[in-house]
Amino acid sequence: MPYIDPHIHMVSRTTDDYQRMARAGCVAVTEPAFWAGYDRGTPEAFRDYFRQLTVVEPKRAARFGIDHYCWLCINPKEAEDPGFAREVIQLIPEFLDDPQLSRNVLGIGEIGLNRNTKNELLILEEQIALAVQYNQLILVHTPHLEDKRKGTKLILDALKRNGHIDPGRVLIDHVEEHTIEMVLDAGYWAGMTLYPDTKCTPQRAADLIETYGHERLWVNSAGDWGPSDPLSVPKFQQEMRGRGHAAGVIEKITLTNPSAFLFQSRNGFATQ
Ligand SMILES: [Zn+2]
Repeated sequence: MPYIDPHIHMVSRTTDDYQRMARAGCVAVTEPAFWAGYDRGTPEAFRDYFRQLTVVEPKRAARFGIDHYCWLCINPKEAEDPGFAREVIQLIPEFLDDPQLSRNVLGIGEIGLNRNTKNELLILEEQIALAVQYNQLILVHTPHLEDKRKGTKLILDALKRNGHIDPGRVLIDHVEEHTIEMVLDAGYWAGMTLYPDTKCTPQRAADLIETYGHERLWVNSAGDWGPSDPLSVPKFQQEMRGRGHAAGVIEKITLTNPSAFLFQSRNGFATQ
C-alpha cells in the first residue's frame, strides 16, 4: 500500500534504506532540519546542511521514485545560544526567497523545545514569527524527556501568543497518550512517531487511532542516525490490517492525511 513518511532524516540513512522504503510503498518523504548528533561549530555549517536538504537529497530520493520535501530551521537542541541561533535563522530567507532552492521546502521545522529552557523558547518564538512572515507551514518537535507534557503546553502557548497562527497549518509531532488530546483539542494536527522502543510503537499508535479517530493525525518513523526504523510506517499499516481496520482508514492515516496537510504549502504536494 502506498504511503508517505512525513518525518524522516534521510541524510543519515543509507541508499539501501531508500530502496527498501520504495519497495514497501513509500512514495514521498518530508525531512525536517534537525540535530546532526553533534553541535555544529559555525552558522556556515547550517548553510551546507540546508543545501543538502534542498539540493542533494531530492536527487538521491528521485532515483528510487520517491518525492523528497524538507523543512528548514535551527533545531531546539542547538538553540541555547541566541546569538548563534539568530545567525542561522538569518540564512533561512536565502533559501525561501530563491525559486530554485525553495522548490522542495514545505515550511519551518522541526522547531520546538528540548529542555524547555528560556533561550529555547525565545528562539522558538522567533522562528514562529519567521513562519508567519513567509506564510510557511510549521512542524513542531516536542521534548522526548519526562517533561513532554510541560514542553507541549509551553509550545502551544507560544503559538497562541503569536496571534497569527492558523492551527490547521501546524503539525505537533511526537505526541503520546498524555499529550495527544491537548493538541487535537486546540485544532492542531498531531504526529505519532513510531520508534522500536521509545515514543509510540506501531501498537500504541493503533491504540491511539482507535481512541481518538483519524482526523488531523499522521504517523512517521522519525528515522535518523540513532536507533530507529525507516520501515515503521508500513509496519503500522500491517498492525492496522491485522486488527481488521478498513483499507480506507489505513490509507487515510498514512497517505491522504499527510498529503492533505502538506498540500497547504505553497509548494503543494504531488502525491494525491
Ligand atoms: Zn526529527
